[in-house]
Amino acid sequence: MGKDFSGGYFLEAQALCCEAIVVDLHVDVILQRRLFGYDPLKRHRAGWRGQPLFWHTDIPRMLEASYTCAALGLHYWPWESVRGWREIQRQFAVVESLLSSGVCLARCVEDIERAHREGGLAICAGIEGAHVLNGSLSVLEEAAERGCLYLTLAHFSKNAAATPGMGRGQDQRSGLTEFGRALVRRLNALGILVDVAHVNGPGVLEACEVSNAPVLATHTCVRALFDTPRGLNDDAIRSIAQTGGVMGVIFAPYFLSGRLWASVDILIDHIFYIAELVGWEHVALGTDFDGWIATIPYEMRDCRDLVVLVERMLARGAGELSIRGMLGENVMRVLRSVRGEGRYLGDQDSLEDSP
Ligand SMILES: [Zn+2]
Repeated sequence: MGKDFSGGYFLEAQALCCEAIVVDLHVDVILQRRLFGYDPLKRHRAGWRGQPLFWHTDIPRMLEASYTCAALGLHYWPWESVRGWREIQRQFAVVESLLSSGVCLARCVEDIERAHREGGLAICAGIEGAHVLNGSLSVLEEAAERGCLYLTLAHFSKNAAATPGMGRGQDQRSGLTEFGRALVRRLNALGILVDVAHVNGPGVLEACEVSNAPVLATHTCVRALFDTPRGLNDDAIRSIAQTGGVMGVIFAPYFLSGRLWASVDILIDHIFYIAELVGWEHVALGTDFDGWIATIPYEMRDCRDLVVLVERMLARGAGELSIRGMLGENVMRVLRSVRGEGRYLGDQDSLEDSP
């Protein structure tokens, strides 16, 4: 299609966003619900561009933005306790309460493909932090049954499995514990993806070594461009790519550049860096909308302005196939490799593989 009448790429970007499968690996709207009673089923007005803190998404606006699938983060305070899993169960119930006409649970690849065909939205959960397991692997079967796409090994605290790059008990030395390695194997067996966003450098490398399925970094950034312990160094990026996994680049200017007010161009720098280091097939979307990110790029109001990112990427020379990969096809490839056609989470086949 190329440049449009205005000399830009807006029309092509708009067409791409409408036609493509769009999967956002990390949306924190459940956090808004938990802390502020925010109702994801209602349409909210967009705030100022680059608005602070929250209200980047709700179900009506994700539908309007042509999202195909959103993984909603489930979280609890950063310490291990029996209350953690109960809280996660409550949050699974919140996710289930959002299922309505046009909104389905993404338990298998076909659910997402159907949502795409029908112009609907498939949602699923991603659990942030193994601390909520409180040292138990047995709760994971319930997570699989209820549509958990991934589990992040650590969030903002050291736990029985892994150490975060940033947060309580952080360090840059510890790898996974014995429990952490067992956890990765159990997640593999259940078809729940292993997420290393938030995990420290050695933990990322070890998770990639232990996992026999592609590894995700759902909402992350590149340390070579801005050195934050929240990001991935080149070794980590290569290791994730070697597993066949994908990295979702976070939409938080602070983690991308150290500034709260920055252009979407900075986000594109991180996307291109990963693509040039390991290939476009390893890039994904992991906005962290509605999370602890303070601001989003100033050209964007909310999830509906994904088209701005795509327009600027086209202008920088990214190909249509590369962009489709980033928008969702790369995650679909990972899902097909893990769950296969017709196979869903909690499937007996996958349980039989467990150690
Ligand atoms: Zn997070």
